[in-house]
Order: sequence, then structure tokens, then C-alpha cells
Amino acid sequence: MSETITNWAGNITYSARELHRPHSLDELAALVADSARVRVLGSGHSFNEIAEPGPEGVLLTIADLPAVIDVDTEARTVRVAGGVRYADLARTVHAHGLALPNMASLPHISVAGSVATGTHGSGVGNGPLSSAVREVELVTADGSLQTIGRDDPRFGGAVTSLGALGVVTALTLDLVPSFEVEQYVFTELPLAGLDSAAFETVMSTAYSVSLFTDWGAPGFRQVWVKRRTDQPLADFPWAAPATEKMHPVPGMPAVNCTEQFGVPGPWHDRLPHFRAEFTPSSGAELQSEYLLPRQYALEALHAVDGARETVAGVLQICEVRTVAADEQWLSPSYGRDTVALHFTWIEDTAAVLPVVRRLEEALEPFDARPHWGKVFTTPAEILRERYPRLGDFRKLARELDPEAKFANAFVRAVLDA
Ligand SMILES: Cc1cc2nc3c(=O)[nH]c(=O)nc-3n(C[C@H](O)[C@H](O)[C@H](O)COP(=O)(O)OP(=O)(O)OC[C@H]3O[C@@H](n4cnc5c(N)ncnc54)[C@H](O)[C@@H]3O)c2cc1C
Repeated sequence: MSETITNWAGNITYSARELHRPHSLDELAALVADSARVRVLGSGHSFNEIAEPGPEGVLLTIADLPAVIDVDTEARTVRVAGGVRYADLARTVHAHGLALPNMASLPHISVAGSVATGTHGSGVGNGPLSSAVREVELVTADGSLQTIGRDDPRFGGAVTSLGALGVVTALTLDLVPSFEVEQYVFTELPLAGLDSAAFETVMSTAYSVSLFTDWGAPGFRQVWVKRRTDQPLADFPWAAPATEKMHPVPGMPAVNCTEQFGVPGPWHDRLPHFRAEFTPSSGAELQSEYLLPRQYALEALHAVDGARETVAGVLQICEVRTVAADEQWLSPSYGRDTVALHFTWIEDTAAVLPVVRRLEEALEPFDARPHWGKVFTTPAEILRERYPRLGDFRKLARELDPEAKFANAFVRAVLDA
């Protein structure tokens, strides 16, 4: 049976004509062992060819394997199947009185696919989602199962792995005691007058802070502040409180967004911007994101402001977040406290690509690492320069996957292999 398989946004049609759906670990192991080239598709929320298996390759999903979510309340950990989505994981974890430290803006993304690309939320003290992972289980090229935990010297390459090491069947994550969050939205934060110290203070106001702008004018249209109710309530003198519920994208209905106006609620109903029960099956958008050392935040924002008219022409919304440094070798926030500049574009690839190039030129001085799952044009040789542990990752990929079964064109370009 031949089918057309696309990503969530619909801008990528995979060359594979069949999505293989193993129902058991044995079936999965046999499929991998018997195939020359393999890629896994998670929930398909990436915007580029990172999951493309190539003309002869097998594309598979592990969504039909048992959706294991085993919470250990004593150890405060959860072992979760790689294909489970954060929304389902979060509900189960919360029912046990526990929490994930952070979430991305959308809860519908798969756990294995998210950590494979360095997916993150916001918060000066919050690393990317991968920083909660303590152990990874993966089916490697010969069909055997390997477990790599935090005390293993290979762990630095094992989580944010771009799908290049094997099929991640399960992960064990650290949990924290459940907590409540209040979300407040403020409007019109000027860029003029904001210096590095003030930027740092704004972004440190609460557990998770995001700035939104359409770059139609300088400055930020909205500030979303997510405060843990067990942490102090800081004043927010830089912008005015919103007078109605807001969606980050102008003109979109706020009904799909998580509760605002300081109504306290469980962490998983406030940390994402979008409600779990609102399930967009596809999106009329493209996304790009660049992660750079936080000390360059203000200069980088002014550089984007310099390209504002070009950027605004194809932009739906830009979001500015912070991510704490982490230790995954291929993480865009590896080794540096980070500011992440995100852009949701209109869905017109031809119109968006030249703007992405212009934006990358503007960000060139700031050692920006593009989000692995989003649209970018940064040449592979520059990308490679920006990851000091790339050589270690290449070595690990060769050890676990000597015939490069899991390396597609995207991965080969990055690894220069
Ligand atoms: C509306 C929307 C909102 C988003 N919000 C955020 C955000 O807030 N923060 C952020 O950082 N990103 C965000 N993203 C980007 C998104 O988190 C990443 O693209 C992420 O990779 C999505 O996970 P996925 O399961 O859909 O991955 P896919 O796109 O399916 O796959 C991504 C990569 O992971 C690999 N992979 C997937 N599953 C496995 C597995 N089991 N074993 C081995 N490899 C695997 C694939 O081969 C591929 O290389 C957003 C995307 C969308 C569409």
C-alpha cells in the first residue's frame, strides 16, 4: 500500500511510501536489523528533512508500541516509551503528585523526537527538555537493545542525537514534586532603553518568561510570565498588564491558549502556551529558531530589529526565551546560558527562505546555533564549527552504527561523514 507521508506542517513530504508500524520490540528489532537505512518519525513536528529516510530508506513510527508510562514515586522518575507525547506523559506524572521540570510551547510533541532535536521551553534556570533525561534505551543497527545512563561516558551524545544512533524506545526522566503556576500576560515592552542587565532581570522575573513580537514596530507586543506559586511574586514594572486574554499571534483566538490572569493551575496546564485538549492536526506555518549565548541577547535583538522590515513581511510571531546551559554535545544550548530567538513564519517556503538567510546574516556575529528541528540555511561547515563536541558525537555514531544505517543526508552533512 502506498501512502503520502508528510510532517505536521505539510512542508515536507517524505520519500518513503510506507510508514512502518512495529507493534512489539521484537518486530521493531527485526525491521531495523533487516533494513539498510532507517529513520524514525516521531510526532512529525519538525520543519525540515531531519527525519527523511532517503530513497531506499525505511521510515518507521514507534507510536504503536505499548505506550508505557511507569512512574516511580519513591525515586521520582518516570520510564516512558519514546513515542508518548508530552501531554499524555504530563497528565500521568501529575496524577502521581509529580512534575516535569519544564515543557515546550506545544504539549503534543513526542518525548523521543523532542529531546532528539534539543527542544526547550523557557526559564533562566531551566535546561532543555533533554536535561531531565537520566537514561535512554535504544534499538541499535543490529537490532540489539542498548541502555545508556547518565554515568556512562557516552551519555553526552545519547539524548540529543538527531535520531542518528538508533531507535529510542524508552527514556527515564527525573521528576520533581508537582507545583502550581500562575500565568500573567503584559503588553508593549519597549526595546529602546532595555540594557543587558534589565533584559536579564525581565527574563528572571519568574520561572518561565517569554517575549513576543511581530517586529511590526520595535519592542515586544506581549510578555508571558509563568510564576510558580511557591516562588515570590515579583513586580513587573516594564509593561502594562493585559486587559483581555491573549494569543501570542495577533488576531488568533485566545481560547486555545493556556489560562491567564494569574489563575493558579497545575504546571502542565500553564507551562505550555497551548492547551493540551486543543490538538492542531496541521499548521499553516513554518518555524526557525536560533540559540546564542545569553550575553549577546541585546545586541542580537538590535540586529534583528535592524532587519525588522524584511522579517516582519513573512512573520507571524517571534518569541524570545531563555535556556540554561546543558551538557548534551549536540544541544543548541550546550555549555552556554542561552537566549533563543524563535520565528513562526507564514507557510510560504519560497517567500520565507530569503528572509531566513537575511536573518542568519544579521545573527552571524553571535555564534548562533539553529534549532535542529526547524528551517535554517546555515551551511553545514559553519554548523560543525559551532559544536565543540561534534567529534565525540561522530565517534559515538560510528561505534553504535558502524554502517551509518541511521544517517540520512541531514545527519551526514552535520557529521561531515
Ligand atoms: C507548533 C509547534 C510548536 C513547537 N514548539 C517548540 C518549543 O516550544 N520549543 C522547541 O524547542 N521546539 C518546538 N517545536 C519544535 C519541535 O519540538 C521539534 O521539532 C521536535 O523534534 C518535535 O518532536 P517530534 O516527535 O515531532 O519529532 P519529529 O519531527 O518526528 O522528529 C525529529 C527528529 O527526532 C527523531 N526521532 C523521533 N522519534 C525518535 C525515536 N523514537 N528514536 C530516534 N529518533 C527519533 C527523528 O528521526 C528526527 O530526526 C515546535 C514545533 C511545532 C510544530
